[in-house]
Amino acid sequence: MNPQIEKLMKIISEAQEAINAIRVACPHEEYEVTQRAWAPGHYNILRICLSCNGTVKGATDAEIKEFIKKQDEEEPERRLTSFELESLIQTKRKPQ
Ligand SMILES: [Zn+2]
Repeated sequence: MNPQIEKLMKIISEAQEAINAIRVACPHEEYEVTQRAWAPGHYNILRICLSCNGTVKGATDAEIKEFIKKQDEEEPERRLTSFELESLIQTKRKPQ
C-alpha cells in the first residue's frame, strides 16, 4: 500500500477511536431529534447529542411525529404519507 495512504488511514482510525471514547463517556445531556442517512435515500429519525454528535437511543413516537410535523411546515410540498410515517415508527421499534 502507498505509505502516505497507510499513514492517513491510521490517522482516521485513531481519530475514530478518540471520537468513540468521548461518546462512550458523554452523558448526552442535551439532544435534538433529527434525521440521519444510513444509506443513500434511507434515513432514520434519531436523537442526536448536541455535545458529542452521537446517537442517543430511544426517540419516542411523539418526538418522531413532532419532527415530521416540523419538516412538513418547513417543506409543505414534501409530505410523508401515513404509510411512510408508520414504516418509520416500525423501523424505530426494531431491535438494534
Ligand atoms: Zn453525547
